[in-house]
Amino acid sequence: MHELGIAQQTLDMAVAETRRQGASRVLALRLRIGDLSGVVPEALQFALETIVEGTPAAGARIDIERVVPACYCVHCKSEFEASNYSYVCPDCGESSLDIRRGKEMDLISLEVA
Ligand SMILES: [Zn+2]
Repeated sequence: MHELGIAQQTLDMAVAETRRQGASRVLALRLRIGDLSGVVPEALQFALETIVEGTPAAGARIDIERVVPACYCVHCKSEFEASNYSYVCPDCGESSLDIRRGKEMDLISLEVA
């Protein structure tokens, strides 16, 4: 379960940022996880909730925002959602290799006190 490693990195980052801001506790964490990132949001949430115990982030609220993958079609010059892992443009039927969204794995905000 590699979510545990990612959770640990996220927690380390959050705690470092909290200290940098001169705060002592993490109240909330918000992450953005793309469906193509290879991370299972539920597993990551569970891992985080487990490892925050005994750290400045104990009891923090954890929000995970999912990102539906999107591709760019060079023919239609527009983005389309690649739902169900299909990268075929719904308008012209061409496959797209230009993935614009969906690989995110970011800590996007932090609430500290
Ligand atoms: Zn198209």
